[in-house]
Amino acid sequence: MNIAIVGTGYVGLVSGTCFAEMGNKVTCVDVDRAKIDKLLNGEMPIYEPGLEDLVKRNVAYDRLHFTTDITKILGDVEVVFSAVGTPPDEDGSADLKYVLAVAREFGQNINKYTILVTKSTVPVGTAKKVKAVIQEELDKRGVNIPFDVASNPEFLKEGAAIKDFMSPDRVVVGVESKQAEEVMTKLYHPFLIQNFRVIFMDIPSAEMTKYAANAMLATRISFMNDIANLCERMGANVDNVRKGIGADVRIGQKFLYAGCGYGGSCFPKDVKALIHTGIDNGYHMEVIEAVERVNENQKTIVYNKLLTLMGDVKGKTIAVLGLAFKPETDDMREAPALVVIGKLLEAGASVRVFDPIAMPECKRRIGNVVTYCENMYDVADGADALALMTEWRQFRMPTWNVIRKCMKGNVIVDGRNIYNRQELEGLGFVYTRIGEKSL
Ligand code: NAD
Repeated sequence: MNIAIVGTGYVGLVSGTCFAEMGNKVTCVDVDRAKIDKLLNGEMPIYEPGLEDLVKRNVAYDRLHFTTDITKILGDVEVVFSAVGTPPDEDGSADLKYVLAVAREFGQNINKYTILVTKSTVPVGTAKKVKAVIQEELDKRGVNIPFDVASNPEFLKEGAAIKDFMSPDRVVVGVESKQAEEVMTKLYHPFLIQNFRVIFMDIPSAEMTKYAANAMLATRISFMNDIANLCERMGANVDNVRKGIGADVRIGQKFLYAGCGYGGSCFPKDVKALIHTGIDNGYHMEVIEAVERVNENQKTIVYNKLLTLMGDVKGKTIAVLGLAFKPETDDMREAPALVVIGKLLEAGASVRVFDPIAMPECKRRIGNVVTYCENMYDVADGADALALMTEWRQFRMPTWNVIRKCMKGNVIVDGRNIYNRQELEGLGFVYTRIGEKSL
């Protein structure tokens, strides 16, 4: 099939490459010329494990193309996936200007039956707006070209995006016509040959499914952080509690890890957008509002623990280990590390940072207000305290003796609960983690 992906970011580039891998002819479009130029030069604009090889292979087989000119391709394709950003507006609602811009271009350029599939995360009712914009453009042209809109929310996780897209748990598709359902079935069949798990439904339900999924996962994280904070006060250990409740098959083990708060491009903005959708419709999403409040507080927990252990951080040097909002990505959108760094600088501390992948992104966001280091030993050099913010695999087994010698002080705040208290205390560190009473 000949398809276009509009918006070549984390979702668009991965989806387009994976559709190409299945033999489709795919053109990825983006308004960001620098991004498209990089891709045309064989460079990746984002870090995602396994992506580069897959992109290069499909480009070499002439199945994957990149352009900034949407007008040249919309006339030829059967399906257009819209994977543009839906950032939060000032009031927290999803900003649909990019989604509607794609709808406008679609209406201005199609010349035969074409389907516009929204992959971006959009509030219920967006498909209606998209449809109205397309119709308006067709009317302006004075043409009567049939089209369909569909909703196909994306559930991939950054850091495991290729695997998630190539073998999804399920694919959710909202459609309004049999023809659109048949095309979407054809497109997803190669990914689910053994067990076809495309769940077709009406469009509003598909749009809501994505928000409900992210809100549920965010709820589990905030719930465990709430439990962790109580554990600390009561002398319980949240990791034991996690194992105890995770063994219950009704609960399951995933997304029960206490930590320094969730970040990223999805949970924070989707939780806010869902709250806003509720308000717009005269309904308070009480659980979700609490989920967001707990998370906002949790993002400062590492900073608060540093203050508790050190009294004051003014004039102190703090090493921040990990910047990305989670391992295996360079994405720093809403990363807890940014909150902690901001608070430390405001309080007059010097901050040294290290992340295996996200340092250029950090520099782009906050510039040289922190010292960028070479590795986890360099970051500890002369530091009074070290705070772990992202649980990259390579941070799991440091040579603590070396770190102890590099550091000026001895405070370790483990924002991801990956280190061993006995081992660190045995080496003379003052160690604290989330959800366990210390000192
Ligand atoms: P992103 O910011 O990485 O990419 C969006 C791209 O769209 C940018 O490159 C931007 O230049 C481009 N763009 C904007 N307007 C355009 C236009 N009119 N024409 C062509 N390109 C245009 O965003 P992302 O992380 O890929 O997210 C995209 C959508 O998918 C969002 O709605 C997000 O909530 C959702 N989503 C993201 C993830 C994730 O893990 N990142 C997972 C599931 C769903």
